[in-house]
Amino acid sequence: MKVYGRCHGCKKPFSVRTDAHTRVEFAMNHGEVYQSSCTNCGFTSRVHVDKLKAKPVKVTFLLIGMAIAIGAIILLYFLFFVDRPYVIVLTTLPFVVYFIIKKQDQTRVSDFNSRKLKGRTHNIV
Ligand SMILES: [Zn+2]
Repeated sequence: MKVYGRCHGCKKPFSVRTDAHTRVEFAMNHGEVYQSSCTNCGFTSRVHVDKLKAKPVKVTFLLIGMAIAIGAIILLYFLFFVDRPYVIVLTTLPFVVYFIIKKQDQTRVSDFNSRKLKGRTHNIV
């Protein structure tokens, strides 16, 4: 997942790749105030974790989509040339996996964005 903030110098957005699912986790990994050196103007911004916003990673979905497309073509080949019932399961499986991953990512993003760190700091330890 990627988390987005804005440079205090030039207002250009920056992104941070993180495994954190919530702001609390993010604060544990990166600190409550995230420091970012702007690649555009060089200004070092100190952004509070509550000001950061999560967005779904689009590239991941593109890669998953490509993998599914390639997988579907291979599976369709087997569907027409091999007459076995498990082929149908294998054909639907990538789509099920895709929707599970997509749903999990959406949940992560909305979890991150909906819960603020303020007032929860005492829950970390
Ligand atoms: Zn900047």
